Amino acid sequence: MANVVWHEKLRIHLDLTRDDLGHEGLPGLWDTIYATDRLYAARSVPVSQRGLQCGGVCQEAGVVAWMHLRLRANGRREAVHEKAEDEARHTTPMSDEHKAYQERILLAATAGGFGGDCEVRTRVGRSWIQTDTLVEGADGRRIGWEVQLSTAGEHGPRSVRARASKAAKHGIVPAWHTDRADYAQRSDTQWTRSNNLPAHVIAKAGDLRVVSGFRALDFWHCGVRALYPCPNGARRCGKHHVTPKPRDVLFDDLVRKTAAGEIVPIEHRTASKTHRFWVTSTDRDRLEDLRSDDTVVPPLSDKDVPGGASANRPTCRPAAAVTALARPVATPSEPLKVTIPCQMPPIPSLPAVPATVPAPSPAPTASGVSFASSMRTYVPFGVPKTFPFPQDLLDAQVALDETRAASEEYAKTLPWSAEPMPGWESDKQLHSTYVSAKPDSPGYTEEQAAEVSRFRARLLELSITVSTHSFWDSVAASDRVEARMVLKHAHESAEDEA
Ligand SMILES: [Zn+2]
Ligand SMILES: [Zn+2]
Repeated sequence: MANVVWHEKLRIHLDLTRDDLGHEGLPGLWDTIYATDRLYAARSVPVSQRGLQCGGVCQEAGVVAWMHLRLRANGRREAVHEKAEDEARHTTPMSDEHKAYQERILLAATAGGFGGDCEVRTRVGRSWIQTDTLVEGADGRRIGWEVQLSTAGEHGPRSVRARASKAAKHGIVPAWHTDRADYAQRSDTQWTRSNNLPAHVIAKAGDLRVVSGFRALDFWHCGVRALYPCPNGARRCGKHHVTPKPRDVLFDDLVRKTAAGEIVPIEHRTASKTHRFWVTSTDRDRLEDLRSDDTVVPPLSDKDVPGGASANRPTCRPAAAVTALARPVATPSEPLKVTIPCQMPPIPSLPAVPATVPAPSPAPTASGVSFASSMRTYVPFGVPKTFPFPQDLLDAQVALDETRAASEEYAKTLPWSAEPMPGWESDKQLHSTYVSAKPDSPGYTEEQAAEVSRFRARLLELSITVSTHSFWDSVAASDRVEARMVLKHAHESAEDEA
């Protein structure tokens, strides 16, 4: 028996627990539908041709389960599955694996200082939201975990988008987890997947890895040396784009960080599809910056030639930048110690002095600005608000700017494509005498590829240091965006004063 029936022809759900079946505007609905079903039965029309399906557990599991109606002597209305195995779906005890996941989620949440509960019903208006495991996170954040293992039908769970949207609309962040690759590939919600594991492994405290559904956003400049093709067309557009790259994450971390708001669901639209996955809140913020902040996406010359316009802001001079990357090994005479929490040794093969930069680029003329020494006092310049940025945060932001500049400077020494590519010559552009052309590219050497990925790792690390700094907790939420903007320009104004 089930309480919810899907009427195939009318395309509505019938709630048998309600007098009006949940449809105030359709008086006499039960009488009509019941009489019709009886008539079919009298004519021996098979149940599978009467247009009534289980609209509850079976439908959610992606199974078409035909039903007929029954009226008890006490007036009770019932819907009965045609097949016993569908009926069994409603009473089957939860699998051990499923239970193990519920326990694991609650344990991980508790270890992170968050509460939670299983099988939570949250009333919303006249219906409710049933949540497999609900984690009560920070700042009133609620994460609704739905674990979908191998019990569903061949088409997988249905109405996922509708259920996830309904939860989100009522303040529950939907988090769907599965051990099946076919579910994980769907884009109806931010599916995460772990490998298919037995209950005792899921329940153990050891590493449980999430192998899909979490991504790191790779931000890149669409110049001729970009590693990826422009998503908007065949030619380089000069803008910044983002490429999501799959990353593993531990399940316990996922549980805790979603509760803390450090891992968040996003939608990423491409031309043909909306992709849904999880990213760090840092990446999400950077993505929002990318879309809203023109200091992150400076206007660029389309002539991306050595010594030409840099993708960087004008104050981040190449010369200072290239030397800067080696700077974390602070010399004793330096007035300020650079204290970046997760400091890495300098990139070994990166030239420490500009003269050894593998040219073709002309040796940049050094402006000799010492970022560190000019930064001790930060006086905001031309901005309405001031923020007491701690020195290590200011240092990390400078290191980030410098590393980015150094990385872009290094990129100028590289062939224009990572892979070997034939050259090309474009048509003349309107209002421009510039005809872009490229010789054949040999592709990156192994060392160059390694260097590029070292730069990327260092940039990622620094951007995480900056955006997850504990200072941000002391800034009112409404001021955070502005504070981040002010920080980005902090060293510029310090230089102006120097
Ligand atoms: Zn059913
Ligand atoms: Zn582009």
